[in-house]
Amino acid sequence: MTRTELTIGEVRLTPILVADPPLLNTQGVHQPYTPRLIVEVVTEGGVTGLGETYGDTKYLDLARPLADALTGRSVTDLNALSLLAAEVCGDSPAATAADAVDVGGLRGVQTADKLRLSVLSGFEVACLDAWGKAAGLPVHALLGGKVRDRVDYSAYLFYRWAEHPGGRGEADDWGAAVDPAGVVAQARKLADTYGFGSFKLKGGVFEPKEEIAAVRALAEEFPGRPLRLDPNGAWSVETSLMVAEELRDVLEYLEDPAGTTDRMAQVAARTDIPLATNMCVTTFDEIAEAFTRGAVQVVLSDHHYWGGLRNTRELAAICRTFGVGVSMHSNTHLGISLAAMTHVAATVPNLHHACDSHYPWQTEDILTERLTFENGAVAVTDTPGLGVELDRDRLAALHRRWLDDDGSHRDRDDAAAMRLADPEWTTPAVPRW
Ligand SMILES: [Mg+2]
Repeated sequence: MTRTELTIGEVRLTPILVADPPLLNTQGVHQPYTPRLIVEVVTEGGVTGLGETYGDTKYLDLARPLADALTGRSVTDLNALSLLAAEVCGDSPAATAADAVDVGGLRGVQTADKLRLSVLSGFEVACLDAWGKAAGLPVHALLGGKVRDRVDYSAYLFYRWAEHPGGRGEADDWGAAVDPAGVVAQARKLADTYGFGSFKLKGGVFEPKEEIAAVRALAEEFPGRPLRLDPNGAWSVETSLMVAEELRDVLEYLEDPAGTTDRMAQVAARTDIPLATNMCVTTFDEIAEAFTRGAVQVVLSDHHYWGGLRNTRELAAICRTFGVGVSMHSNTHLGISLAAMTHVAATVPNLHHACDSHYPWQTEDILTERLTFENGAVAVTDTPGLGVELDRDRLAALHRRWLDDDGSHRDRDDAAAMRLADPEWTTPAVPRW
C-alpha cells in the first residue's frame, strides 16, 4: 500500500432518485421517488471508495465544497476529515439556516450539526471503503474487527397503500396494508421471504387503538417474537402510557412514543417497557440530558446522522457506559449503506437488538449484486472494503431520473405527497393523539 494508493485524486458526487413505495407515517406518505447521494472517492492509485447518504438539496449544497476540499488528502485521515467538514460546511447558508428550523420530522430536530454530519458520513464511508480496498482489508477490520459473523435485521412493517396517488411511480405487488390483517399479511411475506425474526411497525398513522390491534394481531401470528411500535413522537405522555400498558406483554421496546426528551422521561418514569429513540438522542449533545433523566433505554444509532461508522462506535461506547442499549435506525437507503451498517454493527459488542432496514422496500439498487438477508441477517463479508461493487449503468439511469425530475422529488416531502390524496392534509400538530 503506497501513499499514492491512499491519496484522494478525485471525488465524484452523483445525486439519484430511487423508487420508493407509498409507505405511510405520521407526517404523510413517501413520495414515488426519494433522493440519495452517491459519493465516490477515487485515489491517485485508482482505487474507488463508495459512500451513500441523504440526497436532498441541502445535503448536496454541503457535499460539493467538502468534495473539493478533499483532493490531495489521504483516505486514512479521518479525524481531520471531521474537522475539515466543520470548517468547509460550517458557514454554508444551508448549515446556518437549518439551525433554527425544527422540521418536526421523523428524526428529531434538524440542526446544522446533523446536516453536516450526515454529509460527512457519506465521505467517511467512501474513505474507509477505498482504504480497505487498498489494504486488502474489510471495513470492519479498519474499525477494529468484527465480533459477529452476521448482523440481524428486523422486518420493517409499514401501513401503506397499494399504489401512489394517481398511479405515479413504480408498481409493486405488495398491495395495501391499512388494518391489522394487512399488517400481518405484510409481516408474513417479509418473514417468509427474508427470514426476519423480529418486527417493527411504523405507527403514528392511525388512532392508537387501531395500532394496538395491529401489534396484538402480530403477537398472535408470531408468538414470542420481539415486536416494536414507532409512532415518531405522535402521542402525548398519557397516550404513550396507555399504549405501553396495553402492549406490555408483547413489546420488545416502544420507539419514540412521545417526541421530546422531556416527554420521553415522563413516560419512562411510569412504565417498565423500554423506550427506544432515533428522535430525541440524535447527536452527542443530546445524550447527557436524556441518559441522566433515564428518558431512553435503547438508542437507535444511524451512521448517517451520527457522522459515520467511527462515531457510531463512540456512541455505542457511551451507551455501554450508561447501561443503555444500542440498535440501528434506518431511513430509505440502498446497498452501500446497508453494507456500511452491517460492517459497523459487526464491530459493536453491545448491539443486542436486530437493526432496522428499509432495504426490502428498495427494489432498485446501484450495485452489481444486491445484498441478501438470510434468516433475517446479512452475513458480514471479509471482502476488502465494503464488499460491494457499483453498477455504473444503474447509477447513470437513476441519476438521469434525478436530472429529468421537475424538482418535485429532489427534496423529500411526505406531506406534499399526502396532499395529492388529501388536499386538506397538513402536517399534524404534536402530540397528534
Ligand atoms: Mg424511529
